Amino acid sequence: MEELKQAILNKGVVLSDGVLKVDAFLNHQIDPVLALQIGKEFGSRFINSRITKVLTIESSGIAPGLTTALELKTPLIFARKRKSLTLSSNLLTAKVHSFTKNETNEITVSKDFINEGDNVLIIDDFLANGEAALGLASLVEQANATVAGIGIVIEKSFQPGRNKLEEAGYVVESLARLSSLVDKKVHFLEEISE
Ligand code: 5GP
Repeated sequence: MEELKQAILNKGVVLSDGVLKVDAFLNHQIDPVLALQIGKEFGSRFINSRITKVLTIESSGIAPGLTTALELKTPLIFARKRKSLTLSSNLLTAKVHSFTKNETNEITVSKDFINEGDNVLIIDDFLANGEAALGLASLVEQANATVAGIGIVIEKSFQPGRNKLEEAGYVVESLARLSSLVDKKVHFLEEISE
């Protein structure tokens, strides 16, 4: 997705060989125009998948998740990373090891919002080791619902996430695929394969 690539090139900051900072348009300050374009792109990729719910994880998945849900005309549910006072029983839970924080969180969603028969599209901002996406998929499956696909805004293709998700049988659609962050530079996968 060209607009996203340009934002990554112009506003992304490579923190290390493994981590890209996109606080200027996705993770802290949010570019609403780009967020809408991201939602339209995911919408067009999953338009024929009969999605009934979009599921993401707080907080950085919420903007792209919301615009995708708007496009597909479904509700958006975001999994919580911390226990909520008002949400303490009737929960679906999964353990997720955070790539950026190097800590394990229990993520939760109320059983009220994912139901048997739902066809769920999972959206997240980054794909690294696949932990967040697999945790979200586990919540869906605990509810006897189906994972229709996984939409990722920025995939770091040099890390193991995509392979893990595909081996588990999930369809993965990523809007930008990075082949490397070596030498403080962003390289896209298409540059190599084209
Ligand atoms: P995974 O669960 O696939 O290992 O990592 C994905 C999660 O970690 C995403 O939800 C995202 O918040 C965070 N993450 C992973 N890699 C990066 C990165 O390079 N930059 C940023 N900003 N977040 C990342």
